[in-house]
Amino acid sequence: MLTTNKKNRLIIVVPAYNEEEALGKSLDVLQNVLLTLIKQQKVSNESKLVVVNDGSKDKTWQIIEDASKQSDYISGINFSRNFGHQNAIIGGLTASRPYGDVFITIDADLQDDVKAIYEMVDNYLDGYDVVYGARNDRETDSRFKRWTADTFYKLMNKIGVELVPESADFRLTSGRVVDELLDYPEQNLFLRGILPSIGFPSTVVYYKRKERELGESKYPLRKMLALAWDGITSFSIAPMHLVLFMGILTTFVSFVMLFYTAIQYLNGHVIQGWSSLMVSIWFIGGIQLIALSIIGEYIGKVFKETKKRPRFIIQDNLLK
Ligand code: UDP
Ligand code: MG
Repeated sequence: MLTTNKKNRLIIVVPAYNEEEALGKSLDVLQNVLLTLIKQQKVSNESKLVVVNDGSKDKTWQIIEDASKQSDYISGINFSRNFGHQNAIIGGLTASRPYGDVFITIDADLQDDVKAIYEMVDNYLDGYDVVYGARNDRETDSRFKRWTADTFYKLMNKIGVELVPESADFRLTSGRVVDELLDYPEQNLFLRGILPSIGFPSTVVYYKRKERELGESKYPLRKMLALAWDGITSFSIAPMHLVLFMGILTTFVSFVMLFYTAIQYLNGHVIQGWSSLMVSIWFIGGIQLIALSIIGEYIGKVFKETKKRPRFIIQDNLLK
């Protein structure tokens, strides 16, 4: 086992949005974990917690600033506004990359078991570049949340996106994997889909997910659906295939209509012009849907790539 502790500067990145209720306690707990790891000489004494304030409207940033004054192990960055969970993680990794060799991301509410951090670090020291935290028990999540999560993982699998089952954004990544990750310029970030596509030796650590003790979930249904939609659309063109399928179906219906109107026409049941109108409407409609879906596929891809907007904007940076 490696214990070159001069090199292993661990950075724990904690995204926080309106977490004034939970953050104080979480920082205490995480700092204790960090100090234990330092004492065990598994990570360097220069290791740190980096809290990313994602445009909170409450006292979150004040708590981070105060904590950083009191402890050398706590630092933070402050976004200019709310950029969302995934961007907060990327922002934290980008800003802290020069100060660390290995990185762990964990939510501010500590629903994820911090004991798994020790196991993650051990795996890192054994040579793994990525250690996914996966829940082996979600009893504490609502039945609805469990059902939606399950359905989502199944759907993603079906459309060919590789995900580590039951893993979210609690994970360890080595510096070289973070370097690769930061080379992914995508706007619609879905980290749990990107990470497996990077490769490098990886493993999974299982833990029991707890209930949120302090504060409320910052992921209302709307944000959950948006994240799922980002996951699907930035990794798969299955929705476009659905449109293509609809186009083919419509075209097929046009042939049925052609057949039907021909019979009506031969039986003399129709007004002049009705047959040709009916057939053209269905046929052209089908062809147009197919064509639109193909063009849309390319435009959608170009649209996403060309804007190149910043994924986050840092207003204050306490890292030094
Ligand atoms: N979060 C964030 N920006 C947002 C929403 C959430 O940084 O716009 C953070 C939040 O503070 C927490 C983590 O992302 O640390 C996960 O959020 P939460 O625990 O509310 O989600 P849940 O566990 O309910 O899915
Ligand atoms: Mg949570």
